Amino acid sequence: MRKRIIAGNWKMNMTPSQAVALAKELVPLVAGAEADVVFCVPAIDIVPVAEVLKGTNVGLGAQNMYFEDKGAFTGEISAPMLLDAGVQYVILGHSERRGYFGEDDVLLNKKVKKALAAGLTPILCCGESLEQRELGVTLDFIRLQLKSDLAGLSAEEAARVVIAYEPIWAIGTGKTATSDQAQEVCGAIRALICELYGEETAEAVRIQYGGSMNGGNAAELLSKPDIDGGLIGGASLKTEFAQVVKA
Ligand code: PEP
Repeated sequence: MRKRIIAGNWKMNMTPSQAVALAKELVPLVAGAEADVVFCVPAIDIVPVAEVLKGTNVGLGAQNMYFEDKGAFTGEISAPMLLDAGVQYVILGHSERRGYFGEDDVLLNKKVKKALAAGLTPILCCGESLEQRELGVTLDFIRLQLKSDLAGLSAEEAARVVIAYEPIWAIGTGKTATSDQAQEVCGAIRALICELYGEETAEAVRIQYGGSMNGGNAAELLSKPDIDGGLIGGASLKTEFAQVVKA
């Protein structure tokens, strides 16, 4: 049985003091959850939020990371820095990073490998645009993204990656994929992992859906066999996040 994982992506929201207040508000609401619960906070909020999460059931995630350990990479944050600050998870390849900051699959492959080597759990995002869905190339596109991002990983490493299927057209738009649409892609992702790494790895890998998931639609999406959790944007900044965790 795969343990479910619900992660909040706070994006570029919450100053350090606001982040501490939000974490303190949410922690008691998700205490005792059966799923793994993670807050992926802005870089500047990591240290103060880590203090709040100490001794709780909530894991701490970053939203990005560079693949080098240290050096002349102004503005970047490394895996050893994240680990030392108490981070366990890192979102990689969110569509906002791919779209606004030009991150490509070659770079993401290096980041995934570094995160795994360092002992962090990558939450690797993939997903098609509306144009790609309308052209009927969704599955081809996602296969290409994942084959590139996971290239060179061992089966044991691949099993530790959390894959987040996030159709770009559903992110922050209020338009959720139907549970059947989400299941179709998440099922295809598991089939790809099986093709690349075998049955055991495919059964172990956790696949999230993300894209306007909220307290009202989470139960239906999470009822699908290949959807093991959610990556939540907007609803992770409110007490509604606890309803998703409950679902
Ligand atoms: C996200 O940014 O990963 C996301 C899924 O956002 P939202 O839930 O707001 O669509």
